Parts: sequence; C-alpha cells; structure tokens
Amino acid sequence: MRYISTRGQAPVLTFEEAMLTGLARDGGLYLPEWIPSLSADEIAGLAGLPYEDVAFRVMRPFIGDTFTDDEFRGIVERAYAEFGHAARAPLVQLGSNHFVLELFHGPTLAFKDFAMQLIGQLFQLVLERRDERITIVCATSGDTGSAAMEAFRGLDNVDVFTLFPEGRVSEVQQRQMTTVTEANAHAVAVKGDFDDCQALVKDMFNDFAFRDGVRLAGVNSINFARVLAQIVYYFTAATSLGAPNRQVSFTVPTGNFGDIFAGYLAKRMGLPIEHLVIATNQNDILHRTLVSGAHTKEGVRPSISPSMDIQVSSNFERALYYAYGEDPKAVAHEMAALKNEGGFTVSQGAMHALRDTYRSGRTSEEETASTIRAQHNVTGYTLCPHSAVGVKVAEENLGSEPMITLATAHPAKFPDAVEAATGTRPPLPNRMADLYDRSERVTSVANDLSAIEDLIKERIAR
Ligand SMILES: *Cc1c(COP(=O)(O)O)cnc(C)c1O
Repeated sequence: MRYISTRGQAPVLTFEEAMLTGLARDGGLYLPEWIPSLSADEIAGLAGLPYEDVAFRVMRPFIGDTFTDDEFRGIVERAYAEFGHAARAPLVQLGSNHFVLELFHGPTLAFKDFAMQLIGQLFQLVLERRDERITIVCATSGDTGSAAMEAFRGLDNVDVFTLFPEGRVSEVQQRQMTTVTEANAHAVAVKGDFDDCQALVKDMFNDFAFRDGVRLAGVNSINFARVLAQIVYYFTAATSLGAPNRQVSFTVPTGNFGDIFAGYLAKRMGLPIEHLVIATNQNDILHRTLVSGAHTKEGVRPSISPSMDIQVSSNFERALYYAYGEDPKAVAHEMAALKNEGGFTVSQGAMHALRDTYRSGRTSEEETASTIRAQHNVTGYTLCPHSAVGVKVAEENLGSEPMITLATAHPAKFPDAVEAATGTRPPLPNRMADLYDRSERVTSVANDLSAIEDLIKERIAR
C-alpha cells in the first residue's frame, strides 16, 4: 500500500514513511492510494470477536509490509491493554433505536486514546528498528495532548511537545498533560486559541530547516495512522447491531473531522452505513458548509464542548479530496483560497457528493446543557458535553435503522459543565482519583513561531 498527498505534489510514501511524516511537504494530507474493502462474509465474521482481532483484520490491509503479522498483532495487543473496559468500545442503549458507543475507557478518558495508544506502539517499533530519535509536536484543544503525553511518555526515541491554548482547556485535561513526570514529555501553554496552536504546528512543518533539524513528526489527526485506528470501532459497533445484514447510522461530535472521516472510510470499505451525521457545537463551520456550500472561517467562540472549538477543520481536506473526484489540483486550489481569503465555495458537484455521504446539525450551548440534563433525569445516563452535542443532533436524524452516537469523552473530564447541567459532579474513575494532588509542570510561551522553535531546540539539546 502506498500513500499519496491530497494536493498531489508530495512524494508517494509507504505506510511507515507516511506515519513518520505526518503533514505532506506540499501542505496536503496523506491518503492510501486506494481504499481496501472487506466482503460481506468477512464483515459478518467480525461479529463478536475481541476488539483486538477486529482491529487487526480491519487495519492490516493499510499497513503494507511495514510490519509482519506477528509484529502488528503485538502492537494492537499492547495498545489496548490499559483500557478500563473489556470490550474497549462498549455500546449502551439510550432509546429504542439509539445507542451510544463509549469511546472513553482509555487512559485519558477520551476517544483520542484509541489512536494515540496505537501510534505510540507503532512509533516505538519503527524507531527502534531504524535507531532514530524524533520530536513529536502536537496542537491540542485538550484531549489530543493528554492522549499524546500518555502514549509517548518515557519512550526512548521520542520527545513529545503538546501546545495547548492557555486557559482554554478543562482542569482535568490540563492536569493530564502537566502532571506527566517523564523528562521526554513537555506541556506548553500558548497565549492564543486552538487554531493558533494548530497553525504554529503547521508552520513548523513548513519550516523545512527546523523540521529536518529536529526530525519533526506529527501525531495530530493529519497523521493517517490516527484516522486508521478510528475505523475499527465503526466495525465493532455496526456488526454487533446486525451489519452487514442491516444498515446502521452514526452521529459523530465533530471538530477536526478525523473521527467522522474514519467512518467514511469504513463505509467505503464495505460497512453498510446509511447516514454519517456531523454534529457541531456553535463553532459550526462544517454544518454551515453542508447547508450553504460556503466554507468560510469565523472566529472561534469558546464553548462547554472545548474539544470541538475549531474553525479550521484539517481532515475536511480529506473529505474534499474524494468529493472532488480525487482531483488534487482542485483541493490545492480550495485550500489556497481558505488560507489567503478565509474561505471558498464548494463546487456543485462536490456538494452533491458531500450531501450523499454526510448529514449535519449544530447545537447551541443551551441545547447541549439541556440534553445532558434530560438524559441524566430521564435515563440516568451521564453524557459529556461533546457526546451531548452528538446525542441532540442524532435525535433530529433518527430513522428506521439503528443510530449510534459516538460518546467521545468521559463526563468526569468536563466536570464543571456536567455539574452545571445536572447538579451532580461526575467522579473520576478510581485509577486517576489523585489527579488533583499531583504537581504540575508547564511552560508558558507567546503565540510566536520562533519562540516556540527555540524552546523545542533548547529542550531536545539537553
Ligand atoms: C477531538 C474530540 C472531538 C472531535 O473529534 P475530531 O476527530 O477532531 O472531529 C470530539 N469530542 C472529543 C471529546 C474530542 O476529544
């Protein structure tokens, strides 16, 4: 399997190279040259298997000869060993035809652990084999950073830096980043918002002297290995509700479009998904795009679902690549307009393709809170604010097929918003009950590329 850039001007890479590279050198994102598929019999054969076995079968066709079967099995086993639930991604029924897929049983209580724990194991094996050391820089609105610190702390061949917007992440998220004690893990508070952090990381990748000097690698969802890991739970969930003999739909709380794009790939691989519903909070650029065709940036408005507070949705570029009939020139053209003019209008043909695949909805802050409250009071189930955005939008899109809403974080990761909505403070799971007692280690920096590059160079020279 070889990997190509959405913008068509970067070298074609193996899985191993694409994984270590992250952002393509033409500014695009890597995608597999073709999308593997599973037959209906193969999909039926996944029902009831342990999560790790499904993960192996679904991901294996994408990794080419980067790993032997035995190596890859070991990677998958180690990646999910620390999860706090035997099913890894259990389904819980909310209503007669509505289910939530709990993706928050990993070490940092959000779905990012599914991909990040896998990437940690993938990198470890590849870097040992190559005898190389790399620097991982990751922009985070909270959950990616905590998952990355957790996945890479203490690994021999890696330094990890997480850039988060100062004062805009929840205390649990911040502490999961700043209380990591290993010397190779660095929490950096940037004076700016999440889009600033993401832009800084992109600028570092485009500063080739710096990029090559520190051997920069990216683990944001621009990294295809992240997306790959997320395809798996679409298969486990759908097969346990009757796929491939029955259609299912998914609603996905969406920010950077990584999680829902994994659902698109699952569908292209043969999983019978009727609708993929994009759920956004008040930062609704994706919903506006689906409604009007205008993909136009506005300012980020902080919300109670901060991991979705975003206006530049990186992986949407991957969706556009397919919507534009796999035409990298068209993608490069639209992305230049987004950068230089703040937006573009999606072509009619591409809009048609997008609406064929995706539906969308958005919730106001009040609707998010009242959804948490209503579920708590009526079913006794406690949603995190992101999952609540999903549940609300899902309820507007229920049909005759089962609807599965992705529950992307544990409610205790966002205790203030949940307590404000329900009157009850959700407790942390026992294994991290001492989080508030651990001491913090964090460096605060200006929203300035050279200041951050200097910090990184200084730290890795130690
Ligand atoms: C990252 C995140 C999202 C958004 O996922 P994307 O893949 O960026 O669309 C939603 N909810 C939570 C809790 C997250 O951490």
